[in-house]
Amino acid sequence: MDVSTIFGSMVFNETVMQERLPKEIFKSLKQTMEEGTALDLTVANSVANAMKNWAIEKGVTHYTHWFQPMTGITAEKHDSFISPMPGGKVIMEFSGKELIKGEPDGSSFPSGGLRATCEARGYTAWDPTSYAFIKDGSLCIPTAFCSYSGDALDKKTPLLRSMEVIDKQCRRILKLFGKDIKKVTPTVGPEQEYFLIDKDLYDKRKDLMFCNRTIFGAKPPKGQELEDHYFGAIKPRVDAFMKELDEELWKLGILSKTKHNEVAPCQHEMAPIFTTTNLSADQNQLTMEIMKKVAQKHNLVCILHEKPFAGVNGSGKHNNWSLSTNTGENLLEPGNTPEDNAQFLLVLTAIIKAVDEYQDLLRLSVAFAGNDHRLGADEAPPAIISIFLGDELTAILESIMSGKPYDKKAKEVMKLGVDILPAFPKDNTDRNRTSPFAFTGNKFEFRSLGSSMSISCPNIMLNTITAEALCQFADELEKADDFNTALNALIKKTLNEHKRIIFNGDGYSQEWVEEAERRGLLNLKTTTDALPHFLDEKNIQLFLKHKVHTKAEIEARYKIQMEDYCKVLNIEVMTMLEMVKREILPAVINFTKDVADSALSVKNLLGESRAKTQIELVKTLSALTDELTNTTANLEEIIGKIKDYDDVTDCAKFYTAAVIPAMNDVRQIADKLETIVGNDYWPFPTYADLLFRI
Ligand code: ADP
Ligand code: MG
Repeated sequence: MDVSTIFGSMVFNETVMQERLPKEIFKSLKQTMEEGTALDLTVANSVANAMKNWAIEKGVTHYTHWFQPMTGITAEKHDSFISPMPGGKVIMEFSGKELIKGEPDGSSFPSGGLRATCEARGYTAWDPTSYAFIKDGSLCIPTAFCSYSGDALDKKTPLLRSMEVIDKQCRRILKLFGKDIKKVTPTVGPEQEYFLIDKDLYDKRKDLMFCNRTIFGAKPPKGQELEDHYFGAIKPRVDAFMKELDEELWKLGILSKTKHNEVAPCQHEMAPIFTTTNLSADQNQLTMEIMKKVAQKHNLVCILHEKPFAGVNGSGKHNNWSLSTNTGENLLEPGNTPEDNAQFLLVLTAIIKAVDEYQDLLRLSVAFAGNDHRLGADEAPPAIISIFLGDELTAILESIMSGKPYDKKAKEVMKLGVDILPAFPKDNTDRNRTSPFAFTGNKFEFRSLGSSMSISCPNIMLNTITAEALCQFADELEKADDFNTALNALIKKTLNEHKRIIFNGDGYSQEWVEEAERRGLLNLKTTTDALPHFLDEKNIQLFLKHKVHTKAEIEARYKIQMEDYCKVLNIEVMTMLEMVKREILPAVINFTKDVADSALSVKNLLGESRAKTQIELVKTLSALTDELTNTTANLEEIIGKIKDYDDVTDCAKFYTAAVIPAMNDVRQIADKLETIVGNDYWPFPTYADLLFRI
């Protein structure tokens, strides 16, 4: 395989554009891509035609506006290029209008009340900053999805808005340092974790099929304790999957770079090379889709759920985030000159302030039912948001805050903008895996994201909150008489105000929970604790100020996410009840009957004393069967009360407080039964089968 020829072969990227577009058209499109200038229809017509011809040469017959509604996955509706001609013939057509705007009947997508069904039509609008690509014989055009009143109905629109906001505020800051920069772009590299399970075994488990996670399953004799899977040799079947995955991703221009086995058995990771945030968000959606598709070809199922198996690690997504200028400078690179150091420290300080002031937004951007199993479960970052900077950088900041020398031997106090920052070692990411938000040398790694989720929302938050802090800084510094004095004072004051968010210790420890409480940091343990903060006045004001969300959009998003939480849990409860009643109980009853029959036969033959094992087992089985029946009845009674709650917040809170504990009770008994019921009787594959058979 010649990687350099297949790479990007299915993408209408800049090289293809340059080859196929008239010079003037290419220039004008490039300006739109880089500077966001409006695209006129003649340009669009020419681009559409070139795209169509390129696609047809590759066997494509259809096009689709590819968008990201609030379901968290992608949506597409395919139209063919055909257009009727006299004489019963067709020609292949694709106009600029069709490229720029589409009108899918989006009435079944969640809108959180932003559209009444009678005016259901939303429209999709081309995002020229993300390349069109070919997937399954269709030309896919990345688009934003909005209502007719202009409200965003998707995850892309606010992400693009947040990118504009951070661009604008970063440029104001850079100007203060004498740099006239055209564009600052947030960049992201999302590391994607996933599980691979044998399809035949998967098909035998309703919980995996309906919930993407196991809701039953006793701990197998072996889990991940030997740590023999992490970075271990890749098994042939998985290797074949990974090779094909890479090939498919490369064709789509996705920079798949790293692959390895993860901590849990059957768990793996793919990390791409970072790119512009919206492209990265699009590509991550595609990656997840392609992972699932390629797995099927190998008779495997790719599970992206955050916690498919209890007792072994769940899957997350590490969102490596940074800010780059069009001149190739990374604003999170500490730099080598006093001016660059000062600029770095100002940006770093802004991020520290932003994360402290908007802990709630970062936390809620990763909140949903699946991720509740992970955060705070001692395998993923805690629900408490804090920043890890490493000891060296923290010591430098402490010296700035206190005015005391950084290096005890050198007596000088470091003067910002004059002295060069002492060298501090680049943290290697594994040094502190317990931190949700870690500085790793020239980028921040936000580690709380769930593996199945779109990365859009967390990045909307990162961009917007950082932009707000930078905006406040620029407001102050732009009117300062002496820039350096003002800069020093601002950094010192801000760090002192927000240093509580910096924590370099063990995020899994109980001491941290207590310490964080003393520091006044939020500990929003569940989705229902976190999401309501979306509606806090300070947060609404933030989004309105920067025009990232309208108030109606925030309210709609809140409602959609709360409803989603309730729906996910309802499906889990229904699956649980079905599996208990139609699979587990019948199996246990069968087994109990056979053991009881055996007890009777042995007793008749040899007397009761020789049938002790069977009799005791029947007693245990029947006691546990009663408990299973009781806990299941209790769960049914509790879920029956859901209809009493009209308000979505109350309903979600009831799920957290009452339904989840009742589910845990059922599971605990069923899992106990699994360990004593004969292998041949148990109605579905166990953890040992699922995790160790590939
Ligand atoms: P590790 O985290 O294992 O040390 P790296 O730091 O090289 O590995 O990268 C991890 C991820 O971070 C990769 O997806 C990489 O492309 C991404 N990354 C590296 N630099 C940046 C950056 N400036 N902005 C965003 N992501 C980045
Ligand atoms: Mg990493």
